[in-house]
Amino acid sequence: MDDQERAQLKDRILDEIADTTERIMGLEKATEAVSPDKALGRLSRLEAMSDKSVNDAALVEARSRLEQLELALTKTHQRDFGICVTCQKAIPIERIMALPHANQCVACAARGRR
Ligand SMILES: [Zn+2]
Repeated sequence: MDDQERAQLKDRILDEIADTTERIMGLEKATEAVSPDKALGRLSRLEAMSDKSVNDAALVEARSRLEQLELALTKTHQRDFGICVTCQKAIPIERIMALPHANQCVACAARGRR
C-alpha cells in the first residue's frame, strides 16, 4: 500500500466514522424509552415498542462498526496496515471498508475458514 492509497483509505474511514456517528445519534433518539404517559392507543404503543427493538439492534451494530472503524483508523499509519498477514499482498480497500478489522485478503481468509 503506497502513501496515496493509505491517505485515501484514511479519508474513507474518516467519512465512514462521520456517517456512522450520525446514524448512532439518530438511532439513540429513536430508541429513547417509549414514554408510558404518551397518549397512544394500545396497538400503536405495541408498534412503538417493536420499532424500538429493531432500532436497538441497529444501534448495537452501528456502535460496534464505529469501534472497528476507530481501531482501523489508529492503524492506518502502520507499515503493515492493509497487508494480508498470510500472503503479504495488499488487501483491497473495499474489503477493508467492509471489514475494518480484516488482516487477511479474501483468498487467505477463505482458505483459513476451510
Ligand atoms: Zn492473503
